Amino acid sequence: MAKNDFEIDCRPQTLDDIVAANEEHLKALERAAKKELKTYLSRSRLPVNLSFSGGKDSLATLCLCRKLLPGIDLLFINTGLEFPETVEYVRELCRSQKLKLKEIRGAGDFFDQVKSFGPPAKDYRWCCKTNKLGPVTTFLRENYPKGCVTIEGRRIYESFNRSKIMAVERNPYVPGQTTLSPIRDWRALEVMLYIYWNKMEPNPLYEQDLERIGCWLCPASLQSEFFSLKSSHPEQYDQWTGRLMNWARKNNLDRRYVDWGFWRWKRHPPKMQEIAKEHKIDLQICSTGGEDAVSMQAARGRSPCGLEYSIEANLSAPQNHPFSAVAGALSMIGTVKYSQELGAATIKSELGRATVFASGHIMIIAGKVEAEELLRNISKTILRVQMCTGCRICEKNCSREAISIEDTISVDEKKCIRCGKCSRGCIAADRAAKILKRYV
Ligand code: SF4
Ligand code: SF4
Repeated sequence: MAKNDFEIDCRPQTLDDIVAANEEHLKALERAAKKELKTYLSRSRLPVNLSFSGGKDSLATLCLCRKLLPGIDLLFINTGLEFPETVEYVRELCRSQKLKLKEIRGAGDFFDQVKSFGPPAKDYRWCCKTNKLGPVTTFLRENYPKGCVTIEGRRIYESFNRSKIMAVERNPYVPGQTTLSPIRDWRALEVMLYIYWNKMEPNPLYEQDLERIGCWLCPASLQSEFFSLKSSHPEQYDQWTGRLMNWARKNNLDRRYVDWGFWRWKRHPPKMQEIAKEHKIDLQICSTGGEDAVSMQAARGRSPCGLEYSIEANLSAPQNHPFSAVAGALSMIGTVKYSQELGAATIKSELGRATVFASGHIMIIAGKVEAEELLRNISKTILRVQMCTGCRICEKNCSREAISIEDTISVDEKKCIRCGKCSRGCIAADRAAKILKRYV
């Protein structure tokens, strides 16, 4: 190419310049998404709504949908943990644009639930079920009894979990709901340009360098994002760190467990384990236990943040024996890997996968029916270990000589064939089953 064949415009570029330069591309994106929506909606008679979080992706989806469905209902789940700016933004946008807003609120209080479940973590997101999935399911059942189509702004580039989003999906955990994701393969920059092209203003929180406009204490956000709350939202930051500190104190945890963000995992990734080791931070959460009363809280369902069905539960049980005994006995359910350092036992069984913590937390990923069975089996085994009377009936019932009683149950995993015969006539197993009837 000869010199001077093209000219470079050296003027500072404005946002309008960038939008104008990309207009044809934005039109093409819009055309494709509209066509997809029209094709599906022409075949459906169900009422249509739009899931609106106040973030950029749902705003771009709103811009798109209004061109086809001007009177569409906007469903906004107010988890109680939204940034105040987001709640204000959503309400004001709907008021000024004359949009039909349906604000969905959960019944329970998140901070009360923390007392039972402990803080949520990246791998223990009970809050998604209690504060999102639960209220949405109730709302849809009451307002769209014959089912509905929900248009969402989810995108494949957001996370690994979302990389497999399809154009049309049935939500297996919200009966009757079909979801459409017309902007699933748009990039973040395209989303922002599309919003500006449509002359809409995104949530002002993006001006504060926030990447995600979700719950302000979400454990999935970066530690740096959480830390920036300290200056941007000191009230929320103090409220949450205060509660985390109390919880850490009760569980004999170092304050660095909170300050350095270890609370954001139940099962810590190798890098975090290394840091903990280097700085002598104990990651094991010991239940303060000791109380005889058994109680259980459980959150069930597909996490809106993930793809699989899961149960997050917290079992409060007597602490008569160390967790290592529980971990050993869990091999009657599946293959167990026990980490003394983490105070955690992972179980792989034909029913699904589970992790059990010394603190009483239980996380299960499996099919719906299988997950319930796994929760029952795990809880029963924990209680059986803790309430064992030492009668040794189980030893006689096991033809493989796989179970023996020292202080409590001890199972030889190489011999055990998981037949369950050792629980016949076991008073601890019977008692556990009776107690658990209330919960599982
Ligand atoms: S009776 Fe069956 S489940 Fe119980 S320890 Fe023996 S082999 Fe394992
Ligand atoms: S039968 Fe049950 S209560 Fe008796 S020793 Fe075995 S596990 Fe313990």
